[in-house]
Amino acid sequence: MTVRTVPTFTGEVTAEQLGTTLIHEHVFVMSPELDVNMPHPEWDEEHAIERAIAGFERLYALGVRTVVDLTVLGHGRDVERVRRVAERVPVQLVAATGFYTSDVLPHHFQLNGPGRLVDGPDPLIDLFIGDIERGIAGTTIRAGMLKVASEAHGITPDVNRVFEAAAIAHIQTGAPVTTHSHAASHGGLEQQDLLERLGVGLDRVVIGHSGDTGDLDYLREVAARGSYLGFDRFGMDHMGSDEVRVRTLLALIEEGLTSQLVLSHDAAFFSRMTPPSWRAINAPNWHMEQISRSILPRLVAEGVDAATIHQLMVENPRRVLCGE
Ligand SMILES: [Zn+2]
Repeated sequence: MTVRTVPTFTGEVTAEQLGTTLIHEHVFVMSPELDVNMPHPEWDEEHAIERAIAGFERLYALGVRTVVDLTVLGHGRDVERVRRVAERVPVQLVAATGFYTSDVLPHHFQLNGPGRLVDGPDPLIDLFIGDIERGIAGTTIRAGMLKVASEAHGITPDVNRVFEAAAIAHIQTGAPVTTHSHAASHGGLEQQDLLERLGVGLDRVVIGHSGDTGDLDYLREVAARGSYLGFDRFGMDHMGSDEVRVRTLLALIEEGLTSQLVLSHDAAFFSRMTPPSWRAINAPNWHMEQISRSILPRLVAEGVDAATIHQLMVENPRRVLCGE
């Protein structure tokens, strides 16, 4: 299915308007229940918003035009807060829907759904489709991507439920699916098995965090089934070195897989899990400028031509978001 326009926080944009796109980022990763009851000492909403605005202005100056905010439920999505940033920056922000859990859903979902105590349709399906077709949380901000997650322990019953709901929403709306995968245990393959069984075309799927491994055999196997490989954690030194990511990326480009590679950082302007003071010491390169400032120049120095860079940063994310 081809999507003609992509929804952003500030309106629809055409495929041509997407430009250089970071496909897997976060603006603010929160935890609303904790934020109410044990506020993080480093969180200051006004300061965080100003920090994000300044960051997106720098990104725009570096040529980035679109950033997908994959913060969904489970990561404290609050589109009204992000809208305050989006309205003041030239970079186009795209919202997402889905549920970030690699084990269990909140208790609400144990008691509500088909065959549950409060019997009825799965509220996840209505949530995902509503977010894509009508707007998120009573706003007119629509989601442009679906996000699902699994970890080393595989597809738990609740993770399976999230994948099922996402597949139904994908089939009804055409919104692309992106995953959080555990590359070290080759988790992308079981995600592909499940999504394929649920009727999702694997060429509409990004297997996220694929760049966490340098195992080329595994990456070739995922790519051979048609999905995109997310090299989406540049700068995240605690999950692997950029040196390995670059070398792995170069090998895949060399093998002709350029059209299935997408680059991003999985960075955030604030995350209470890894707050700014921690990041400043432990992950100083983990920010949304690392690809523009460090990785792309490195690829060019290794002989990657401008057309290939354009494919990685513009054409591939556009194909992910809009279909063929
Ligand atoms: Zn992420």
